[in-house]
Amino acid sequence: MTTSSGLIWEDDVADPILSVSNIETYYGPIAGIRGISLDVEAGRIVTVLGANGAGKTTLLKTISGAMDPQKGTVVFEGREIQKQSPDRIMRAGISHVPEGREVFPFLTVHENLIMGAYTRKDKAGIQDDMALVYDYFPLLEARSRQHAGQLSGGEQQMLAISRAMMSRPRLMLLDEPSLGLSPILVGQIFEIIQRLNREQETTILLVEQNARMALSVADYGYVLEVGRIVMEDTCDRLREKEDIKEFYLGMKEAGARGKRRWKKKKTWR
Ligand code: ATP
Repeated sequence: MTTSSGLIWEDDVADPILSVSNIETYYGPIAGIRGISLDVEAGRIVTVLGANGAGKTTLLKTISGAMDPQKGTVVFEGREIQKQSPDRIMRAGISHVPEGREVFPFLTVHENLIMGAYTRKDKAGIQDDMALVYDYFPLLEARSRQHAGQLSGGEQQMLAISRAMMSRPRLMLLDEPSLGLSPILVGQIFEIIQRLNREQETTILLVEQNARMALSVADYGYVLEVGRIVMEDTCDRLREKEDIKEFYLGMKEAGARGKRRWKKKKTWR
């Protein structure tokens, strides 16, 4: 298979839960993403890496229906969903945890979680999932009657993920869950992401600037630069690539005379 980035991908995605093809999304005249194609295999964690402004958030907003693409298709479980409302896309089984948490600050933790289940009518199932969320995040149970605005940044991120869990998504879109968190909290959040994937069989599309963490938990990765995919591979292989080591993992090679070589501005095009 020849990919969007012109690379040969040896193994076709066996069972894509999500296929994005040639998506272009604009902010007025400004292109946020310029022709992106990617596949997410069911049951996997797939990550999208990229610097500030590369188009990661725009990609997730296009998938979740918060933005409409000008061109291209988004196929979820065999059905085209591009340009559908966020509500419909959520009902179809995709849940979006946006960048910056965006919890309802004047609602309690419990009320925020109930809001996450607003598309559901199965009361017993909602109760079970509430118990599951509190099992994953015991701290939230202890704070269930507090206003979400009083939680710390890390706790709000936990609440944002929990609220997304309450709709029982088959695909969860996570936008920079590590942003602004301490290393310990980042570790905890990524552990939960892995557990969700393993134990709840939730497929995850993870956008991150913390490449080290993202490549350690994900199976497959795409690198986004100025609105285009410039590289993709298994995370094991991405970790070994010099460009990734230098520009995403901050590992610089020693130069010919044992000095660090000058870090040039690098693009793949
Ligand atoms: P970050 O990590 O900073 O969130 P990102 O990779 O998520 O970056 P996007 O936020 O998707 O990148 O932005 C992609 C491009 O779209 C950038 O060039 C950005 O300047 C532009 N852009 C994003 N939001 C807007 C907006 N509201 N109006 C105009 N242009 C925007």
